[in-house]
Amino acid sequence: MTGVEAQSVEAHLEVPSLEVRGLAYAYPDGTQALYGVDLTIGRGERVALLGPNGAGKTTLVLHLNGILHGGLGEVRVGGLAVDPKDKATLREIRRRVGIVFQDPDDQLFMPTVREDVAFGPANLGVRGADLDRRVRDALGRVGMLEVADRPPQHLSFGQRRRVAVATVLAMEPEILVLDEPSSNLDPASRRELAEILFSLDVTVLMVTHDLPYAAELCPRSVILSGGVITADAPTFDVLTDTGLLRTHRLELPFGFDPTATAR
Ligand code: ADP
Repeated sequence: MTGVEAQSVEAHLEVPSLEVRGLAYAYPDGTQALYGVDLTIGRGERVALLGPNGAGKTTLVLHLNGILHGGLGEVRVGGLAVDPKDKATLREIRRRVGIVFQDPDDQLFMPTVREDVAFGPANLGVRGADLDRRVRDALGRVGMLEVADRPPQHLSFGQRRRVAVATVLAMEPEILVLDEPSSNLDPASRRELAEILFSLDVTVLMVTHDLPYAAELCPRSVILSGGVITADAPTFDVLTDTGLLRTHRLELPFGFDPTATAR
């Protein structure tokens, strides 16, 4: 490798997965949901996005892949600016930002698990052995290879959520955005999903009210409250700051001691 090549590889590695600059947005009815959000997430980081209901978390997430736009500021994913007017860019942004919605049934609609996971990459033109490899790899990463030929509706809720994660991983995203990943899971499924998320080698932004899940999985937490980021710190510091939690209507479950958890 020449010196110039080495420098360009280094520069590429330093491009953050996500850069949000001065993002402000009001809905058409005039409700101001975001008031200038700045957030940078480096490659491979796992960050929890915390905040009370109505804080603007969904509004922020929907800006990451250009579903919402038209306000002020800028969003870049792996260095590429979200430009809702440029179809090719938007397509690439939607590949880079893998959103796993709260209800897996919003994401699974094909006759078999395999077809659901193949759907996105096939749409991008991936075919044959490459497509098979992607599907196998994505299902393997969430421990769901053995259900590849089953209809998604025949799986448990926890299994369907894991398959929904696989549909996004098959796109080889720059950042995995999870909306309340632990919601409606029984304790065993919740733990299994945590182990899977912990094992993935991808950048993660996790929207959650489940503070123990944030403590377990995300070294860094950001609090969004009233459309602004009011804290951005190690999760341990956030969860042990009782005044901060109270101010932003965040509550630790009864008996949970953040000082007793460490991976
Ligand atoms: P969160 O996901 O943190 O609960 P949201 O992003 O859903 O917060 O909402 C942020 C603010 O925007 C709230 O005041 C909410 O009422 C408002 N809001 C959300 N969706 C709409 C919409 N479609 N039209 C008008 N206001 C909205």
